[in-house]
Amino acid sequence: MNMKMTVMDHGDVVDHYHEVLAEMKAAEAAAGRPAGAVRLVAVSKTHPAERIRPVLAAGHRLFGENRVQEAASKFPALRQDYPDLELHLIGPLQTNKVREAVALFDVIESLDRLKLAAALAAEFKRQDRCPALYVQVNTGAEPQKAGIAPSEVDAFLTACRDDYGLAPVGLMCIPPADDDPAPHFALLRDLAERHGLAVLSMGMSGDYAAAVRAGATHVRIGTAIFGVRS
Ligand SMILES: *Cc1c(COP(=O)(O)O)cnc(C)c1O
Repeated sequence: MNMKMTVMDHGDVVDHYHEVLAEMKAAEAAAGRPAGAVRLVAVSKTHPAERIRPVLAAGHRLFGENRVQEAASKFPALRQDYPDLELHLIGPLQTNKVREAVALFDVIESLDRLKLAAALAAEFKRQDRCPALYVQVNTGAEPQKAGIAPSEVDAFLTACRDDYGLAPVGLMCIPPADDDPAPHFALLRDLAERHGLAVLSMGMSGDYAAAVRAGATHVRIGTAIFGVRS
């Protein structure tokens, strides 16, 4: 492979990364929030490691992937070069992938059912490793979408704690594509406040400024950094 060519090919990614950071900073200021209040999860799914490396070289360390297998094929090597890299799982997790996910990810943002909570609890013990957990909430009550219904969050958190000894630290949502995201973000923030959860993962390439205004602590941004996925 022609290394020089590779570097040139992926230079746009770093420009986009800096643009996103600037826009996040502007949104924080506009919302009266301190600079750095919101963390950027750079969503690198479908993009090869060579496209991720320039962002690492630019100083970024927090990434999101939605498939265990794909992340396992890219990130162990990247982590060898950048041991302080932090990796979030943002996609659905099947119980047969829990072992690999617990070994690989630092945060699992997609806790969405008790069967998964049980499998995670068992695996945390086995590996003596406890990635942080966020509960995915289906704020739009979409039947095809993963996540706990807003009305079930209370019971779900109680069961996680009492039955499995798990203490999720945050909530995550993906608003319906055609809706105004603001009410979904507000709902997630209210749920987090009510349950004393500090972390709010919401906002993607198309709506992260609104998410910053609504109180997001983490935004998950793919396309605006890495470009359109094929
Ligand atoms: C792909 C994905 C993102 C990033 O979406 P973009 O629109 O590319 O920024 C964020 N969150 C989740 C859960 C995703 O699957």
